[in-house]
Amino acid sequence: MYRMLLLFFFSTSLFASDVKNSIDRVYQGYTTTPESMALLASLEAGMPYSDNLDDARVMAFKCLFLDTDTLDKRQAFKVFLAEAKQVISSSGDAVLSQDLSVCEAFHLYSQGLYERAKMILQPIAEVALNPELDDKSQTSAIGFANFVLNRVYLAKGQYKLAFDTAQKSYQAYELAENYYERALTLREIAAIHLALFNYDLAIEQLLRAKSELATFNVQEHYKVTDEIAYVYELKGEVSKALELYLSIFAAVRQYENDDGFGYLVIKVAQLYTQLNEFEKAQQYFSQVQTLDITSDWIKQLHTMALAQWFLATDQISNAVRENNVLAQLDQQNWPASFTERYLQFYAALAMRQGDYQTQAAVQKQLLTIANTQVNNVADRALLSERLMFNLNQQNREIARLEEVADIKEKLLAVAVDKAFWQRLTLAFACVMLLMLAVYAYKQVQHKQHYKVLALKDELTGVANRRAILDMKKRAISKSKSTGTANSLISIDIDHFKAVNDQYGHDIGDELIKSVVNTLSQGVRSSDNVGRVGGEEFLIVLEQQSLQHALEVAERIRSSIEQQTHTAKNIKATVSMGVVEVAPDETPEQAAKRADINLYAAKRSGRNTITA
Ligand code: GH3
Ligand code: MG
Ligand code: MG
Repeated sequence: MYRMLLLFFFSTSLFASDVKNSIDRVYQGYTTTPESMALLASLEAGMPYSDNLDDARVMAFKCLFLDTDTLDKRQAFKVFLAEAKQVISSSGDAVLSQDLSVCEAFHLYSQGLYERAKMILQPIAEVALNPELDDKSQTSAIGFANFVLNRVYLAKGQYKLAFDTAQKSYQAYELAENYYERALTLREIAAIHLALFNYDLAIEQLLRAKSELATFNVQEHYKVTDEIAYVYELKGEVSKALELYLSIFAAVRQYENDDGFGYLVIKVAQLYTQLNEFEKAQQYFSQVQTLDITSDWIKQLHTMALAQWFLATDQISNAVRENNVLAQLDQQNWPASFTERYLQFYAALAMRQGDYQTQAAVQKQLLTIANTQVNNVADRALLSERLMFNLNQQNREIARLEEVADIKEKLLAVAVDKAFWQRLTLAFACVMLLMLAVYAYKQVQHKQHYKVLALKDELTGVANRRAILDMKKRAISKSKSTGTANSLISIDIDHFKAVNDQYGHDIGDELIKSVVNTLSQGVRSSDNVGRVGGEEFLIVLEQQSLQHALEVAERIRSSIEQQTHTAKNIKATVSMGVVEVAPDETPEQAAKRADINLYAAKRSGRNTITA
């Protein structure tokens, strides 16, 4: 796989052959991966060779190209190894058999079998370097063993030992004048600095490796650049990392398979997401769709990057879906940095969903990881002053995280509390609102009631004085704009005082009610009857001429006269004054004229109408 560099270095033999020369070109770093693989194929096709040392060389060379990442491939590797051991031992070349052992150890290391790898590597790696030695192939073998051993120590987190073996590897290759391999060890030292969070030192080593590898095969440039970009990424310099990744895009496409190229495309999409350039990210995600990704690990990286993009672009249900995929995976095998990345995403997703409980729990997990990291770094014997600086920085970061977690927890407690109080307040507010509404409704009803009361005559239920005068006023002003005439009838019960005197006040009241009844029945619903005084009434006839008003008045007059009123069946009459409101008249003037006519009716003998 792309990030896992192939080990293209081997020791050289004193006796040159075509096979040896071809393989040496690979070990010296002058061929690209496709060229190396094509060479292997052609060398294998030429087997068996007349010199069985050449067969041994091809077998040792082939070992480096085999994969052991699946069970089937591991089985095949075992078969190959048995055959290779036999071929190489029959050639009698001790250095080639050491090389095969180191290659075997490398495969064990790749499978995480560190102790078994160490057992094989240590006897070869621990041999002291001898500058007087003429056989450079022996020195290179020591370099190779130390190289792989450094990887084992790095994987085990034994950084001091990793550093020592990487350095010894560097010295061995220098002594053997293998400058390609020597440059490769610089990348190993950079990897140790990286593991110790010493980013600047890592970049320093990688830049050195980059300049030294520049003269070798064209792939070296993008491989180192990729690593530098990765360090910038870890350092948090996302734009710089992205710029570097984009600079190697074409080269990676040319030399890597879809898994290797897919890794880069996903990485670019991820970084664009981090930089909030979501559309650019989306373009790269759609490019992933066109690739044939077979590696489970690259698939997981893809899911993770997509999940983050969905969350960042507020597509929560999609983010949840991707999260469900991630949650089902075997997270035990994840590298710490990936676990951290996932947990950060998960916490953010939980927060976005308002699930503060989960968020706080995940935050705690993150804190544990950060604490472990600090302890790991603190345990290293390799801590330089610069490392101490980083450690302090880490501690500050932890303190900050702890603070955040603390605040989160407090906020959570407050939130739970708050939710209760919010609910309570809401319930209280609802009740208050309801009460207020009922109160307001009652108030309105009350007001309406009093408003009606204020306009109604209590005894008869018709308009009271104020109301009927108001109606008269409005009707008259309205008729002024429409140009139609209104008429008024002023009414007074004749000799009412005598009724009171003879039958009592209550019968007097009853007579008033009875007269009002007759008045109300004698007019249209649009006409208004009101009581302006004790036994005095006013009828406002809207849009009615004097002629019509006289007809109404006469009907009422005769009706009252013909009836008997009250429980006592008494007879009663009324006198009326009728006017048609003149266009230039005020309501008061019109009412006054009606009253004048009423008095005229009284004077003329009562039970009459005057217009
Ligand atoms: P006329 O109009 O025919 O000239 O004689 P009258 O007796 O009807 O006239 P007057 O205005 O002198 O008498 C009105 C009486 O009505 C005086 C008052 O005691 C009585 N009155 C006023 N308001 C009420 C009331 O609400 N109920 C009763 N029962 N009597 C009332
Ligand atoms: Mg009267
Ligand atoms: Mg009167």
